[in-house]
Amino acid sequence: MAQEPRFRRVLLKISGEALMGAEDFGIAPATMRRIAGDIAEGRALGVEVAIVIGGGNIFRGVNSSKIGVQRVAGDHMGMLATVINALALRSALEHTGVEVRVQSAIPMHTVCEQFIRERAERHLRRGRVLVLAGGTGNPYYTTDSAAVLRASELGCDIVFKATKVDGVYSADPEQTPDAQRYDTLTYKQVLERDLKVMDATAVAQARDNGIPILVFSLHNAGSFARALTGREASTVIR
Ligand code: UDP
Repeated sequence: MAQEPRFRRVLLKISGEALMGAEDFGIAPATMRRIAGDIAEGRALGVEVAIVIGGGNIFRGVNSSKIGVQRVAGDHMGMLATVINALALRSALEHTGVEVRVQSAIPMHTVCEQFIRERAERHLRRGRVLVLAGGTGNPYYTTDSAAVLRASELGCDIVFKATKVDGVYSADPEQTPDAQRYDTLTYKQVLERDLKVMDATAVAQARDNGIPILVFSLHNAGSFARALTGREASTVIR
């Protein structure tokens, strides 16, 4: 079977929760190793890979009031959580032999590079996996919005949004066994039906910039490479 990738440059969005494995907080080492292996497999197909990593496995700004922290500070904490995940992902990717660079939207020069579009592009052209931390660098946004923003800036062909399920369904497939998976959806359908796949800001920005979103599950080993070669169940929003 032909295994030619369908894309030249992709932006992979991984939520922080994807790193937790069976835990309910933090990073599960075996899960991180498997995801890193999957990313390396995708990169080996010759696809340029930029990754936006979330932080929800550590902290989300919307929960800040519960611990007596103001929202903006809470969002800063959430963005810093993405840096923690990015550093862990870098290590795991380096173990696979892949060359990696981390860039943060929040400057922290002694820890990693700052996001600079031209440098980011150069890393991608040189075949390095680029891990983008710190979200957009602004409070009141999410890493979904950061994913679409960076995909637009870096000229990515598509955003690969990794979720717990293999696409967008007519109802929650865990609650409704006969829920149908959509093969394709329009941005308008996602927004009008309020389908919970990415936040509305991110979907609207993808629509405005003409960036398709492929929703797939990163749960099974090898799914990233299969999705890159069109052999994995998914929903494409365009
Ligand atoms: N965040 C932010 N601005 C951004 C991206 C993220 O303020 O541009 C904060 C926000 O508090 C968010 C947290 O970082 O809750 C973690 O990001 P996100 O919830 O998107 O992570 P994920 O759900 O993908 O794990």
